[in-house]
Amino acid sequence: STPGGPRVREEKIVVTVRLRPLNKREQLAKDQVAWDCIDDHMIVFKPPSHERSTQPASFTFDKVFGPTSLTETVYEEGVKNVALSALMGINATIFAYGQTSSGKTYTMRGITEKAVYDIYKHIMKTPERDFSIKISGLEIYNENVRDLLNSESGRSLKLLDDPEKGTVVEKLVEERANDDQHLRHLISICEAQRQVGETTLNDTSSRSHQIIRLTIESTLRENSDCVRSFVASLNFVDLAGSERASQTHADGARLREGCHINLSLMTLTTVIRKLSVGKRSGHIPYRDSKLTRILQHSLGGNARTAIICTLSPALSHVEQSRNTLFFATRAK
Ligand code: ADP
Ligand code: MG
Repeated sequence: STPGGPRVREEKIVVTVRLRPLNKREQLAKDQVAWDCIDDHMIVFKPPSHERSTQPASFTFDKVFGPTSLTETVYEEGVKNVALSALMGINATIFAYGQTSSGKTYTMRGITEKAVYDIYKHIMKTPERDFSIKISGLEIYNENVRDLLNSESGRSLKLLDDPEKGTVVEKLVEERANDDQHLRHLISICEAQRQVGETTLNDTSSRSHQIIRLTIESTLRENSDCVRSFVASLNFVDLAGSERASQTHADGARLREGCHINLSLMTLTTVIRKLSVGKRSGHIPYRDSKLTRILQHSLGGNARTAIICTLSPALSHVEQSRNTLFFATRAK
């Protein structure tokens, strides 16, 4: 019911922040809460009284979700509009950005679930259109691309440049979902497959990016002189831990590994910073990493983007939390 097809609007990237509660480990270690969500828009650094050296600071965003907020609320207020634009033929990408253990996977799983529910609700309410939903899942680890729907694909998949489709991942399995239950099942396969990697390779989840991509296509059924069809990708991206993007983090063990910095994450932060500045930002280095190549057509241009920045409230993580908030501020 949008005459003339989807309208192209230039929108800013929707940036929200989610502060999780202290977890058991942090509680046992007598860690303390260092951040307070003053209202829906502002988060402030509140050091315990004995911490005199650190300066208080406050940050403002489209939305800030506190430790008691539900994923449902994060979805409704920070993601839904962006995600559902994919039903109208507008590419959309939802990111979870934050340090390891800040709640990216927790948040992204819930968000994906809610989006799937809403997509099928929309399909039920739109009998005049025929919908087709396909799904693919991949993981980028050390700039190698692994298929999460094909456990046989051991080696890294190649990226190819298709004149029409742009960058495509060669041999990536794409499954057609019969209904919502089937789609949920396929998503759970991707998630399980990512965990297989986690147990064999040490610490992968902090280093790897996971993309679940839905390709949503629809055509008008009948009685229409112009057969309008929409096709768009909706990407759910659970990023590597943001500590992989910070050059200042001088942790001995990680430095010895020699690949502490994550190329895809660094490139993504540059791309997002340039996109948020707007049209005049000049060259955008999509081609510098696998992640940004794969997402190129779902970032910038007509595409819509939502970033949920997840934070640990712990005083011991204050430096990484600040880095996340600085990233979030630059992405706005
Ligand atoms: P990440 O993917 O960023 O490394 P996780 O999503 O795995 O972090 O979260 C780390 C831990 O914190 C998990 O045990 C998760 O269940 C818990 N957690 C994360 N966010 C929340 C939240 N908003 N409320 C309650 N528990 C959370
Ligand atoms: Mg995770």
